[in-house]
Amino acid sequence: MPRVGVLALQGDVREHVAMLHAIGVTGELIKRPEQLEGLDGIIFPGGESTTMAHLLATSGLQLALEERVANGLPVLGTCAGLILLSHKVLDGRDQQWSLRALDVIVRRNGYGRQIASFESPVDVKGVGVVPGVFIRAPRIEAWGKDVEVLAKLDHGDGPHPVLVRQGAIWGCSFHPELTNDSWLHQMFTSSL
Ligand code: GLN
Repeated sequence: MPRVGVLALQGDVREHVAMLHAIGVTGELIKRPEQLEGLDGIIFPGGESTTMAHLLATSGLQLALEERVANGLPVLGTCAGLILLSHKVLDGRDQQWSLRALDVIVRRNGYGRQIASFESPVDVKGVGVVPGVFIRAPRIEAWGKDVEVLAKLDHGDGPHPVLVRQGAIWGCSFHPELTNDSWLHQMFTSSL
């Protein structure tokens, strides 16, 4: 079994750990740089990207992650986690930090604010239709040629990617961890 960490500074950490547990993987809670040692992959949860970015800096994890990810550590980011991975963040805080590991431009709250949160079925390449829970979700506005689009959704605003992968880096604008199906955790874990 691969060793999978869940960034545990803020956000829906427990839900990701439960998804991993359901497929027989122990999610290791990552709060400090030394806990990255020996991991095969890490999950960035949903939550609030500006808060997570702040805590990443103060915990020392930001530098450690920049180094590990540059050296190939696989990452799956959902919602705020996708924002943290993106090359560029629109409508973020001034100078909002991101890892720039995934060649996408995302717009924070791109589908609207909390009140505009919604659920919609999403058709995922190679998986089928899964439930999509979108909560203040980032919208992927642009993506590079090395980014594979695994699912798109048209929420009345034209089709936008909602699940992408660039090699070992995966970004999902919705929250599979809030449903009771571990399909994404299965996909990510079996790629490690
Ligand atoms: N809008 C949030 C952010 O900017 C993300 C919301 C979420 O993860 N559900 O981080």
